[in-house]
Amino acid sequence: MSFQSQSIQTSDCVATSNFNAEGREFSRSRGYTDKPERCPSYRQASDFEIFNLHPSIMAGVRALGYTVPTPIQSRAIPPILQGRDIIGLAQTGTGKTAAFILPILERLRSGSRGHVRALVISPTRELAEQTCEVSNHLGRGTGLRSTAIYGGVSMEQQNQDLHGGADIIAACPGRLLDHLWKGTIDLSEMEILVIDEADRMFDMGFLPDIRNVLRCILHKHQTLLFSATMPADIGRLVREIMHDPVTVQVDRQLPAKTVSHVLYPVPQHLKINLLKEILNTTKTDSVLVFTRTKYGAERVARQLARYGYRTTSLQGNLSQNQRQAALAGFRNGSIKVLVATDIAARGIDVLSISHVINYDMPESTDDYIHRIGRTGRVNKSGAALTFVTGADSDKIYSLERLLGTRLERLTLQDFDYNKPAPDKERRISYLSRRPGQRILKKPTFRKQMAGL
Ligand code: AMP
Repeated sequence: MSFQSQSIQTSDCVATSNFNAEGREFSRSRGYTDKPERCPSYRQASDFEIFNLHPSIMAGVRALGYTVPTPIQSRAIPPILQGRDIIGLAQTGTGKTAAFILPILERLRSGSRGHVRALVISPTRELAEQTCEVSNHLGRGTGLRSTAIYGGVSMEQQNQDLHGGADIIAACPGRLLDHLWKGTIDLSEMEILVIDEADRMFDMGFLPDIRNVLRCILHKHQTLLFSATMPADIGRLVREIMHDPVTVQVDRQLPAKTVSHVLYPVPQHLKINLLKEILNTTKTDSVLVFTRTKYGAERVARQLARYGYRTTSLQGNLSQNQRQAALAGFRNGSIKVLVATDIAARGIDVLSISHVINYDMPESTDDYIHRIGRTGRVNKSGAALTFVTGADSDKIYSLERLLGTRLERLTLQDFDYNKPAPDKERRISYLSRRPGQRILKKPTFRKQMAGL
């Protein structure tokens, strides 16, 4: 069913035009098409009609430019609307936020207001903010209010927001517990609990906090759990807290099909040169570069900035304001290259990311999926470039097993892969030699990469 063929003219174009202008701004900032609002005198019907959502919610769907539900939305929304517990096995970038926010809005639309009726537990503040933002935009016409709760900022402002009457909160576990213990959040009327990116929360050590939050919810409620993978501990949690859940699975443990994957073998000390060369010679939109450590992210961003790239880093050493400025710059295009660590990049939601560059190979295939989930979002194409050294052969093997194919190894033609490490490094290795030990000549690039 095509979007255009379902257009229906209505008489309420004036009532929706202001709202659409704002929605258009939001959509544009996220890289959505603004076609749906191009003719304000048309109210667009779409495949979302199948869910029978209230017109006030459909207005939000249209304002964000969503036309066709993504697979996770098609499969998850109906059982959630029926009140079932669900396990959503879907990676970031599949549209899972709207998959749970839309039915939450539908359910909360009727009933009393001004107290927490839906709680979304998120691993990072960025994800909590984004969930809240999506909820506020989709639910604009419903009058329901959402607020984000996370640490690193004053509790006072959050207390005021909560006091003003939040219907939906998206919260990180630690700060949520602070509020629960202080009595500033009351979950006694909560109807729907969402545990988002459960596997990541488990990796980040949040499982005990989540269990503590669950101890504060004694009454019957609907539980929705989203996770890209299902490690054993999450499986155990599911069995303990969910009632007859429906499992909804979308491309489990596989990156989006719209992403191409290539490996770039390179000696460690030449990674920065290779990165510059690739950025110089490749047509890119926004580029997200991943390093293993926060110091690495800072260093790479500093080096790129020195070469004139519009870049910054996103890592754990930044204050909340700096993080928000980095994300805002990346989102509005003033920053073209963002260098981030895995944890800091959770929840980055920028549709124009054309390339993800793994400056350092991710620790696990799960991390690879999460990183790559930042590009190729909702049918856009994207490229994943991974720099690999001789030490990465095991990780490459696991990745190729996961993807079910041997990845192409690329080398740049005019790049000097045999350029020696800077003098300083050689001097250090000379000084740290044992007495009588000979300094061996470094093997050539070809020999170093022989096992890859
Ligand atoms: P998520 O997986 O929730 O992080 O969503 C990934 C991106 O897709 C976000 O920017 C969403 O706003 C966007 N999105 C979600 N659903 C749709 C849809 N049905 N059509 C187009 N874009 C969507």
